[in-house]
Amino acid sequence: MASAHEESHRTQHTGSIRAAVLGANDGIVSTASLIVGVAAAGTDGRGVLVAGIAGLVSGAMSMAAGEYVSVKSQEDTEQADLVLERRALSENWHGELEELAEIYQDRGLSQELSQEVARQLMDHDALGAHARDEIGITQELSARPFQAAWWSAITFAAGAGIPVAMVPMLPLSTLTVAVPSVAMIALAVLGAIAARAGGARLLPASLRVCFWGALAMAATAVIGKLCAVT
Ligand SMILES: [Zn+2]
Repeated sequence: MASAHEESHRTQHTGSIRAAVLGANDGIVSTASLIVGVAAAGTDGRGVLVAGIAGLVSGAMSMAAGEYVSVKSQEDTEQADLVLERRALSENWHGELEELAEIYQDRGLSQELSQEVARQLMDHDALGAHARDEIGITQELSARPFQAAWWSAITFAAGAGIPVAMVPMLPLSTLTVAVPSVAMIALAVLGAIAARAGGARLLPASLRVCFWGALAMAATAVIGKLCAVT
């Protein structure tokens, strides 16, 4: 459809940093909370480890499935738009040329130039020109469901791996303190990375992420304590 643009690649790059940070955040918060809850309930080390690994795998799968479905439905919408556009081009070439020329006039070209630009672009790749400038679909930005699904799963698993790896390395009695502490540090660092990538201020972004993480871990710790078998 369209050739690759530098700008689009950079936009996509920033987007994937943000998606990666979100995935890792989810992995840390949900898996650390799970481990804290199960450990607070007095489960043995093996049980805590199994719960952590199960949480990592189920979370990664569910992230992948959710992302696939959401991106796929976006792709379906784009495809439906392209079908409509292809039909319009075959039935009403001249009207479509006028339509494209008007879009370029709105962007500041003169009537004469806009019609020349529209004509040349449509001779080159009519559907591509309409997809890009009328509907706003570019090849670089168009949905890639499998890539998005894998990326979510991998980043979730990477985040979840931090608390899971701590379970076999530390004494069971220290987990309810050590896991939340390390999770909070990791969340603060990720919050700062996300803020940097998005051009936002570092401290508020980190505090916000840490607040929700602390809330989640406190909630499961309380539930674990309540369910504790003595
Ligand atoms: Zn059109």
